[in-house]
Amino acid sequence: MDLTTARQTMVDRHLRARGVRDPRVLLAFDVVPREAFVPSALASAAYDDRPLPIEAGQTISQPYIVALMTEALALAPGDTVLEIGTGSGYAAAVLAKLARHVYTVERHVELADAARDRLAALGFSNVEVRCSDGTLGWPEHAPFDAIVVAAGGPEVPRALLDQLEIGGRLVMPVGPAHEQQLVRVTRDGIVAYRREELGAVQFVPLIGAQGWSESGQIDDAPLDGASATAARARTSGCVTTPRRGIPAALARTGCATSSPKPGSR
Ligand code: SAH
Repeated sequence: MDLTTARQTMVDRHLRARGVRDPRVLLAFDVVPREAFVPSALASAAYDDRPLPIEAGQTISQPYIVALMTEALALAPGDTVLEIGTGSGYAAAVLAKLARHVYTVERHVELADAARDRLAALGFSNVEVRCSDGTLGWPEHAPFDAIVVAAGGPEVPRALLDQLEIGGRLVMPVGPAHEQQLVRVTRDGIVAYRREELGAVQFVPLIGAQGWSESGQIDDAPLDGASATAARARTSGCVTTPRRGIPAALARTGCATSSPKPGSR
C-alpha cells in the first residue's frame, strides 16, 4: 500500500470509524504526512495505529489519540494554540492546519531543533517551536484559545490555567505514571474553570517545575550526566538527552498507548 492510501485508510479506520467526527479534524489528518515526522526507517509504519519511537527516547503519539485531543480542543480557524511536548512536531502540524498560530514547547533541545527544521521544510509558517519547560507555558504569547499538553502530569499546571483565554479549552492527561485521565478544562470566567474527563490514556511524563521532577526519571543515569542535565534544567528547562538515563519502562511506555474506555466521552 502506498503512503497516501495508507493515510486515507488510517483516517477512515482509526479515526472516523472510532468516533472522530469533526470534518476539519479529519481533513487535517488527511493532509499531514506522518511519514515525514518519524525516523526514516519507520516510514512504512507511519500509519500504523500506535505510537512510534523518535529521538531522545520519546515517542510520536498514536494518531487516534492526537485526533481525540485535537477534536476536544474545538478549534476555530482564528485560534491561537499552545502545545506542550512538541516531540516530532506531528501534532503541531495538525494543529497548524486548524488554527491561526501554534506555539509549541519541547524540553529536549534535539527534538525542538528537529521539529522546527521539519515543519519549516514542509512549509508550515504558522508554528513557532521553543525549547523550555512547558509547564510554565509561554507567557509572552498568552492568553491562548486552546492549550494541549502531550505528556502526563500530576495536575494541570497553574501557569497553563492562568494562560488560558476566557472561553478557552485545555486538554491534558492527568494522573500517575501508569495511567492518566484525559481531562478537558474550559475556562468559563476569570476564576471559573469547568473540568470533564474524556477517558483513560497513558503518556510519557510531563517533567518540569509544575510537573513531575526529573530525579525519579534519571536515578539510573551516571552521576555526571544526571547532575549536568539537572543543572541545565534548573536554569532554562531545556535539556539535552542523558545518553544512558532513559529507563526501559519509559522507553516501552510510549506517548499514548491506550485508548479511552468506550463510552467515556
Ligand atoms: N506531540 C508529539 C508527541 C509528544 S511526546 C508528537 O506529535 O510527536 C511528549 C513530549 O513531551 C516529549 O517529547 C517530551 O520530551 C515532552 N515533554 C515532557 N515534559 C515537558 C515539559 N515540561 N516541557 C516541554 N516538553 C515536555
